[in-house]
Amino acid sequence: VSRRRTPPIRRADAPPLAAASAAPSCPNCDAPGLRRYCAECGQAAPAATDYSLRAYAADLAGQVTNADGKLARTLWALVARPGALTADHLRGRRARYLKPLQLFLLVNVLLFFAAPQVPLFSYSLEKYLRFAPPSPTLAGALVRRATPAGHTHATGPAGAAFTAYEHRFDARVEAQRKSLIILFAPALALVLRGVFALGRARAGVPRRYGEHLVFALHTLAFVWLVLAGAGVVTALAGKLPIPFPAGRAAVVAGVILLLLWAPLHLLRAVRRVYALSWPRAAAATAAITFAFLVLLFVYRGLLFFTTWYTL
Ligand SMILES: [Zn+2]
Repeated sequence: VSRRRTPPIRRADAPPLAAASAAPSCPNCDAPGLRRYCAECGQAAPAATDYSLRAYAADLAGQVTNADGKLARTLWALVARPGALTADHLRGRRARYLKPLQLFLLVNVLLFFAAPQVPLFSYSLEKYLRFAPPSPTLAGALVRRATPAGHTHATGPAGAAFTAYEHRFDARVEAQRKSLIILFAPALALVLRGVFALGRARAGVPRRYGEHLVFALHTLAFVWLVLAGAGVVTALAGKLPIPFPAGRAAVVAGVILLLLWAPLHLLRAVRRVYALSWPRAAAATAAITFAFLVLLFVYRGLLFFTTWYTL
């Protein structure tokens, strides 16, 4: 196969529709009839001005403002219009928002930073040994097998060895937490598929696993955002000189309000995306919330085992 070389054309001089067949082919994919953009692969037609500083500056400005506009629009829709991101995606209105997976991964990064302050998402050996899943007794027995002198606390002759194990465990949990959390999305999509399996097939309502996965990614992105917000509130409260117990009560109230927001948001999102009546949407929301808590429990236990096993 010989590579045809076509002279670069100036975008301003791109040929009109009628002359498309006479236009050069795309240097990227060889599709014929290149105009301002290739109709096959979407690449812009190369131009002599591509390498000017002005073009670089314009490109940079475009990338930044476009990314910002998309990000702001996506976050706004996620927070203010429950279910709108999924509904729009299913209707084919996609380019205006970040992709579901992009959004989910981005919000995951936010949660990583806030997680040490989030009650449900902070993990350490000490916490596993006090209140598990899987179970404090089981966790203790496994840790005793892993530590040199079979200890589960930092006192006595083998205290130093246990402390060393604890440090390694906590560092490993922190690292694995970030990868395992991604599994929430496919697991929740499976739950959604089960919950909505009996529904009638209707246009625009998720039916296939991949469609449920979009809703799962958007739902988790919102829940993670709320949890990260709760973490930030808790962290700020620790920094501010708030008097006890009034300040403490205000922080707890703020975190509880944030956490209550998630199921209400989910209810409205379920109604919009799955086109359900209020009672049915409420039942589905309760089922999804319960399944989420079970997943959280499983995640916690799984995280203990993978950390213990790989240490
Ligand atoms: Zn092309």
